[in-house]
Amino acid sequence: MSKIVMKTPLVEMDGDEMTRIIWRYVKDELIHPFIELKTEYYDLGLEYRDKTEDQVTVDAAEATKKYGVAVKCATITPNAERVKEYNLKKMWKSPNATIRAILDGTVFRTPIVVKGIEPFVRTWKKPICIARHAYGDIYKNTEMRIDRPGKAELVFTDENGNETRSLIHSFDSHGILMGMHNTDKSIRSFAKACFNYALDQKMDLWFATKDTISKTYDHHFKDIFQEIYENEYKDKFKEAGIEYFYTLIDDAVARVIRSEGGFVWACKNYDGDVMSDMVATAFGSLAMMTSVLVSPEGYYEYEAAHGTVQRHYYKYLKGEPTSTNSVATIFAWTGALRKRGELDGLSDLVDFADKLEGAVKQTIEEGVMTGDLAALSVLPDKKTVNTLEFIKEVRKRLTQALNS
Ligand code: NAD
Repeated sequence: MSKIVMKTPLVEMDGDEMTRIIWRYVKDELIHPFIELKTEYYDLGLEYRDKTEDQVTVDAAEATKKYGVAVKCATITPNAERVKEYNLKKMWKSPNATIRAILDGTVFRTPIVVKGIEPFVRTWKKPICIARHAYGDIYKNTEMRIDRPGKAELVFTDENGNETRSLIHSFDSHGILMGMHNTDKSIRSFAKACFNYALDQKMDLWFATKDTISKTYDHHFKDIFQEIYENEYKDKFKEAGIEYFYTLIDDAVARVIRSEGGFVWACKNYDGDVMSDMVATAFGSLAMMTSVLVSPEGYYEYEAAHGTVQRHYYKYLKGEPTSTNSVATIFAWTGALRKRGELDGLSDLVDFADKLEGAVKQTIEEGVMTGDLAALSVLPDKKTVNTLEFIKEVRKRLTQALNS
């Protein structure tokens, strides 16, 4: 069988610890034997980030702008312990935050649904994809403790020194105070990324805020979404047979629980933070969540939603067997290869991505899985395999699918 030929390189961002080991296994077993892989490689492993003063992360993000599609391995976000462990020059910023800031993107997280790993919510049959607005609100707030009586006001001073004031509260004793903001530019980018992604995935888009209470702030989010929808997406959504649906956040939560799934749920920053963890847990496992960063210009960066699985890496270093779940990392590769195939008109690459995802699901549904899934699966006959065995089992089924 001849290998699939690519046109444009993928931006490949290598990473850290156990996921770096998985990265190599996935490429050796599931990609290289079938594809003449073209990538522009960036080593985002912590040692090389430190060596290049984190320039490699910036270069990788810039390359994503040049080529359009990237695939990223999980990386360490250094804390004080890591600075010591790796003898770092500095506590470098989270690579994901750096890349997100350069691409100005929205993160979409979607669970991988397989038979035998049943969601805790009985009605959920299809994945629920959470889109989190990753700018502003309480994540860029200013807070104050009030320790005496007084008046708190919101004051805006324009460039000419003109002030607009509004009373927040007259304190007669102790209390607390907070100010926060967002920008039209960021909300617009978020809305466009959500509309584009829903179209791309052919899924309905839900959006919810607390606009009945927050009549200016949250209402503005609602208005921007509505305006962009009416002007730019209404016809496209109709053509694709999908719907944009706005409701109050409390109504949305109730509907999500009673739904079958199968939609994109756009969330404001805090709602997305909380709801993505709820949805991930309710679908079963963090190791079964994919994540893609989509920029308003249409750049895509695919990754697993989990971290570097540090505990397993230390076992691996001691030569002990590990049973680390590689599914989300494999789906990061299939997501990126499929998108590259779509953009370059390579139907065999798209077909390969579909077949590889199918082989992963088939492996688990036939009862072959890593330890974390074996603990969750309701299948009667299960075989727990180690990290590399799982990937080899997938390869067997992939080869069959490609030859059939
Ligand atoms: P983690 O996701 O690596 O692990 C959290 C828990 O889930 C652990 O108990 C782990 O054993 C389990 N788990 C996660 N993925 C698994 C998998 N594929 N197979 C089996 N079990 C799995 O998160 P953490 O332990 O909080 O962080 C470890 C490192 O990862 C940190 O240095 C952190 O900075 C980094 N991190 C990176 C990203 C990213 O690059 N996107 C995201 C989160 C954390």
